[in-house]
Amino acid sequence: KKNFKAKPAWMKRIVPGGDKYTNIKAKLRQLNLNTVCEEAKCPNIGECWSGGETGTATATIMILGDTCTRGCRFCAVKTSKAPPPPDPEEPKKVSEAIVSWGLDYVVLTSVDRDDLPDQGSNHFAETVSLLKARKPSMLVEALVPDFRGDSECVERVSTSGLDVFAHNIETVEELQSVVRDRRANFKQSLDVLKMAKDFAPPGTLTKTSIMLGCGETPTQILKSMEKVRAAGVDVMTFGQYMRPTKKHMPVSEYVTPEVFDKYRELGEEMGFRYVASGPMVRSSYKAGEYFIKNMIE
Ligand code: SF4
Ligand code: SF4
Repeated sequence: KKNFKAKPAWMKRIVPGGDKYTNIKAKLRQLNLNTVCEEAKCPNIGECWSGGETGTATATIMILGDTCTRGCRFCAVKTSKAPPPPDPEEPKKVSEAIVSWGLDYVVLTSVDRDDLPDQGSNHFAETVSLLKARKPSMLVEALVPDFRGDSECVERVSTSGLDVFAHNIETVEELQSVVRDRRANFKQSLDVLKMAKDFAPPGTLTKTSIMLGCGETPTQILKSMEKVRAAGVDVMTFGQYMRPTKKHMPVSEYVTPEVFDKYRELGEEMGFRYVASGPMVRSSYKAGEYFIKNMIE
């Protein structure tokens, strides 16, 4: 019997390699940084860390601990109502380590911290400001939680000096409650992206991402894309959902590379400044490279 959920050929993993990648990996051992790239066993690590065609090395760093206060059905991160308090020295330590690592583009991200009065927003803002003070040429993206829609938190982060404010809507409007934690929703996430655009200095990009293969229809995807564009979002990415373990939500389908290409074309027609779309694309996929290209044009 044919197993239609078996992974198709285009989902095979790329073996990481290259000099820059090897150097970065060696250095990382001494720096005590948690990368999503390694923890999520991201298939793009070779390309991102080596900098691809433009030599712009990108990595995604986790701050605020490894334990989330939420539980989304696609996510393998461990959860707790009361995670350990964040390390007050973390912004300093992490920014020093990132600067000495030699990255060109860094994505800072975190678990959700509904347990903290500021939801972790000060930690983000401090880390960004310290990074920019230490190495102004480094491009910094913050991929943040929804902060429960709190405008003070959004303002704090979007005015911290970052280049890209990212927040993922994860899936189409209709599937929000199926895929994400019950505290998350489409409108709240769009509002966060809208607020960030308003608060941030001109030229700051906003960005979001959705996973395909969660049971969405093409019409739902288009409708959600239109709403995202109407919220002023500049960059959108599309990738394939991959089930981390059997306990997580199943994959509804493996979307073909051709269909991913279609969404990229449609997104470009809608006026997004940049769209990355492909089975292996993650929200931070080669972010440095596209940022550079996008800015030069
Ligand atoms: Fe995972 Fe983020 Fe959901 Fe937490 S909020 S469970 S880290 S996707
Ligand atoms: Fe890291 Fe993101 Fe690149 Fe994957 S796509 S290697 S998580 S920066």
